[in-house]
Parts: sequence; C-alpha cells; structure tokens
Amino acid sequence: MSYTTIEWTDQTWNPVTGCTKTSDGCKNCYAKDIANKKRLEGEEKYKYGFDIVKCHPETLSLPYKWKMPQKIFVNSMSDLFHKDVPFDFIKQVFQVMHHNEHLTFQILTKRPACLLELNPQLKWTDNIWMGVSVENEKVINRIDLLRQTDAKVKFLSIEPLLGSLNNLNLIGIDWVIVGGEKAENARPMKEEWVLDIQQQCKDQNVKFFFKQWGGKYGDGGDLLNGKRYKEIPEYTPSFFGMQIY
Ligand code: SF4
Repeated sequence: MSYTTIEWTDQTWNPVTGCTKTSDGCKNCYAKDIANKKRLEGEEKYKYGFDIVKCHPETLSLPYKWKMPQKIFVNSMSDLFHKDVPFDFIKQVFQVMHHNEHLTFQILTKRPACLLELNPQLKWTDNIWMGVSVENEKVINRIDLLRQTDAKVKFLSIEPLLGSLNNLNLIGIDWVIVGGEKAENARPMKEEWVLDIQQQCKDQNVKFFFKQWGGKYGDGGDLLNGKRYKEIPEYTPSFFGMQIY
C-alpha cells in the first residue's frame, strides 16, 4: 500500500503490476513512468518493468492490517482485468475485498469486456466500486459494458478527457470523475467539454468530481468557474467488518 496524491481515493493497493497500452488514454501512462523509475531504483516488486504483468500474492494480506475505514484504489499500477491476470488471482483479490467490508475498494479498468465476461462469477459486495476509463468517444461503449455488471457502485474516470463527450448515457452510473492530462506533452482539455459533462451529470443526477486541469506540470489547478467540485457517492463503511489480525 502507498499513500497517494490521487484525490478521489485515500490509498493505493497493487496486487498486480504491469500493463500494456490499449487506447488513446494510455499514451502518457503515469504508471509506466513510475514503474520504470522504481525498477531503476531497485525496488523488488518492479524488477520485471512495466510491460510484463505480474501478480503479487504477498500483497493479498495487506488490507487485513488496515483497521481504519478508507477508500482503496485497487491496481493504480496495472489493470485488474488485463488478459494476463489469471481469473483465479482476480477471485483471490475479490475475496480479500469481501473480508474487509470496512474498506471501500475502487477498481478502474479499460478492459470492461473482460470484466463483463467474468461478472457472473464475481460476488459484488457494497464495498467494491467498479469504474471504467472513458477518455473520448471512441471508447464510449465501455459505459454500456460497465452498466451490465452487477457492481453496486459504478463510476467513470474521464481522465484524461481528450474530446467532447456530449451524449453520455449515465443511467446506472453513480459517479463521474473528470480531469485533464498531466504530462510533459499533455494533450489539452477544453473548458466547454468539462462544463458539458458537468451539466449532463446534473441533468441525470450523477455525482460530479472535477479533479484538475492537468498540463505540463500538472499545475492547472482544480477550479471550474471559480469553484471546486468534489462530489463523491455516499458510503457507510462497516465497522463490524473489521478484522483483528
Ligand atoms: S490501462 Fe492504465 S495502466 Fe494500463 S497502460 Fe493504459 S493507462 Fe497505463
């Protein structure tokens, strides 16, 4: 686990590392840069680099040690539904989440076809939030695939927003996060695209979280029309689920 600067979560937990690029949103993948840096620094977990997907069973015991209710971003350094992650391991990750209902787990994927295929075999407890990344119109069908799953809380990470998304069907979607790209060669995000998504969330009664404008140094700030928008779905962590080990 590590503390994170990702505003919509509290901690990250990476039972898998490594990934491969799959769509336009991956162009400046931050996970690849971090993994390469960690490999150069000699960190054991990242010795295989980024391009090889590796499961880390030794990390499965970690959530049992976290006693305080908090939000945990699962696999910030990979994609749990990558084809190279064995289903047996995904099931083990879900089992850990089931055993720790005081924690809210947030999973994000760019591979919802794989997610949907496995969905009938997955048990979705209230503390598992499932999201898909949607960076432009080309991948808008990810929302339909997510909608068909049995996840209790469903969300969209629209980051980096690369074009207008003016016809979003948000039925069954609880939360939308929007952000610009933070990278040396960051692709620009227009204000009108963000405002349009904000309005669609309002019209369809969906929580809206504006993360940041992004930019070369990520210093674009997070004000939208002079205000901060940081809505988040309500959740009630269960203290009864706390494990003592
Ligand atoms: S899916 Fe995510 S982790 Fe994988 S390459 Fe794309 S941006 Fe990086």
